[in-house]
Amino acid sequence: MKPKIVKSEDEWRRELTPEQYAVCRQKGTEPAFSGRYWDHHESGIYRCAACGEPLFSSETKFDSGTGWPSFAQPTGPARVATAEDRTLGMRRTEAMCANCGAHLGHVFDDGPVPTGQRYCINSVSLDFAPKKE
Ligand code: FE
Repeated sequence: MKPKIVKSEDEWRRELTPEQYAVCRQKGTEPAFSGRYWDHHESGIYRCAACGEPLFSSETKFDSGTGWPSFAQPTGPARVATAEDRTLGMRRTEAMCANCGAHLGHVFDDGPVPTGQRYCINSVSLDFAPKKE
């Protein structure tokens, strides 16, 4: 994938918190049930923590029981890019922000109908913006 926003690792390191950098740029994973959004139920939009792109809506968020915020789909098919991830002896699909390349989490095919997909996302990669009434 070719992100639209391209910055050096030094720039990202300056702009992101150490926790954000470890997940978004180094593909780390926050511990389950540790993040600020797995048990978060307000209405609004979850933006990319690195670039602000609106990636997921609370309308497609569901309780997966995994301890990570989980969504049935992104706000648009082009907003979240995917790639094969064969690290840690597993075969998974990585999810990234298509706008800046930030690592978000992984996509699994055991989600709820109708999409059947489960976007398992790190809270650290997201920034929640409440819906304006
Ligand atoms: Fe982004």
